[in-house]
Amino acid sequence: METPSRKPSDFIRDIIEQDLKTNKNNARIVTRFPPEPNGYLHIGHAKSICLNFGIAQENETGICHLRFDDTNPVKEEQEYIDAIKKDVSWLGFDWGEHEYYASDYFEKLYEYAVMLIKNGQAYVCDLDMEEIRNYRGTLTKPGQNSPYRNRSIEENLNLFDCMRSGKFEDGHCVLRAKIDMSSGNLNMRDPVIYRILHAIHHRTDNKWCIYPMYDFTHCLSDSIEGITHSICTLEFEDHRPLYDWILDQLKVDCHPRQIEFARLNLTYTVMSKRKLLELVEGGYVTGWDDPRMPTISGLRRRGYTKDAIRDFCGRIGVAKSNSVVDIALLEHCLREDLNLRAQRVMAVLRPLRVIIDNYPENQVEELEAENNPEDTGMGCRKIPFSKVLYIEQEDFREDPPKGFFRLTPGGEVRLKHAYYIKCERVVKDEQTGKVVELHCTYDSKTRGGWSQDGRKVKGTLHWVSATQAIEAEVRLYDHLFLKPNPEENDDFKTNLNPDSLVKLTSCLVEPSLANALPGNRYQFLRHGYFYVDTDSTKELLVFNRTVSLHDAWAKIEKSPK
Ligand code: ATP
Ligand code: MG
Repeated sequence: METPSRKPSDFIRDIIEQDLKTNKNNARIVTRFPPEPNGYLHIGHAKSICLNFGIAQENETGICHLRFDDTNPVKEEQEYIDAIKKDVSWLGFDWGEHEYYASDYFEKLYEYAVMLIKNGQAYVCDLDMEEIRNYRGTLTKPGQNSPYRNRSIEENLNLFDCMRSGKFEDGHCVLRAKIDMSSGNLNMRDPVIYRILHAIHHRTDNKWCIYPMYDFTHCLSDSIEGITHSICTLEFEDHRPLYDWILDQLKVDCHPRQIEFARLNLTYTVMSKRKLLELVEGGYVTGWDDPRMPTISGLRRRGYTKDAIRDFCGRIGVAKSNSVVDIALLEHCLREDLNLRAQRVMAVLRPLRVIIDNYPENQVEELEAENNPEDTGMGCRKIPFSKVLYIEQEDFREDPPKGFFRLTPGGEVRLKHAYYIKCERVVKDEQTGKVVELHCTYDSKTRGGWSQDGRKVKGTLHWVSATQAIEAEVRLYDHLFLKPNPEENDDFKTNLNPDSLVKLTSCLVEPSLANALPGNRYQFLRHGYFYVDTDSTKELLVFNRTVSLHDAWAKIEKSPK
């Protein structure tokens, strides 16, 4: 179960195979996963992690670096670094000694920038950001040269030194590469490569007040680390000429090949860290690890397994054009995995009291139940049966619609692992008219849930015994957003699903769960897969519904009569 059984194949792996055949890079394969530590990782990052670390794992000489792309001190924090490392490890990948930080290259990057200036390929520009934008032109209109473009090398060296030594305020000037203001590629129109920012960096503290921009940092970090294949998402395709230009001008020894692939998008999900941060900061969720979040930490807390996520990443594959993946596929991978590993138990989420009139008072039977019909190795357990039980409120209908096979007045059903019971009498609250209690009889000759006379029943209900059951809180989750594409509107937050979390507080679970600990997972019969939440205590068990089972009944009820 560690890795998908099929050997993955895609256009990136084809390139790598070809490079190995031609002994390119001396047949070394070095990839990297380069997160910016400005938020927690999400399932989209998992795709990139599985790809980069996966390729390294599949090849004998393969190595994958974990590199923190930490060039924006304003948005980056140690908390994020720790969380990212935890998530990558949890997914089962090991970067070994290859943990790097772009900030460790600041001195080197500075030297490279000085080299560009000395080559006459970079200049200090005093235009402000808006002016730079105006000078840049558009896709249809060429840009204009900055009035500072022809500063002498001496002057540029001097000004860049002043930038570094803190003589200028934020925004006073920038360093730009001198490429081509009429290039058809906007990224090549003298891009900014350094800016002034008097800010404390989480690693270099106040050592620097100028910071290199992403495009300058990324290619050079790749080169410094000896990366062979720099795999990134499609939006960087237009940046590739700049990636190559910088490395060409600086005549570096190692010039990695940038390869772009399509990022993962999921229905009912937003996938940008900026938007996820907005949800966290606005209190729309309880934190980055809220079980409704598409973050790795959220999915983990919800009860996702790393195998399910890796299986999903394997199945969606790696392509060159953007698409949106149905979240149902992720849930499908999860169900397949949990089906094999989750112990089956009975839990009643919305209890309705049932009294078995013909069952002896004070008698308790221990009935045998298998823990997982998919895996006999998981053994059996005992569950108590007694005179007073609870079933699910929705499993009883006084006035049943056609096709309702559960308990009805006068009707008979099977209690899972137990007996057939028949509903004899319904007790209602006088004021509200609500059903509060059912009186039933049981057939003692149906022990284990099977009749000896061949009598069949259509419904099988789960239940718990009143005296032994344990109270628990159960959190049911639905999609965080109402629409398959929540970003269609201006503000994605208007599409938040108000019912994405339903907390049920008087649930009853079978006594075998008395010692359930955070991290344990179960299948609650007919309800889905559940995971003990970190909020759980000895006094109160708290379960997250990881994912429901397919609910055929809901379909019947929704379809037009
Ligand atoms: P976001 O847009 O969510 O802020 P990002 O691209 O800014 O993501 P980074 O920390 O820069 O986040 O990403 C690290 C790596 O993960 C990059 O190589 C990036 O291409 C990749 N990545 C980010 N989002 C996705 C995604 N949805 N699908 C696949 N790869 C992704
Ligand atoms: Mg980014």
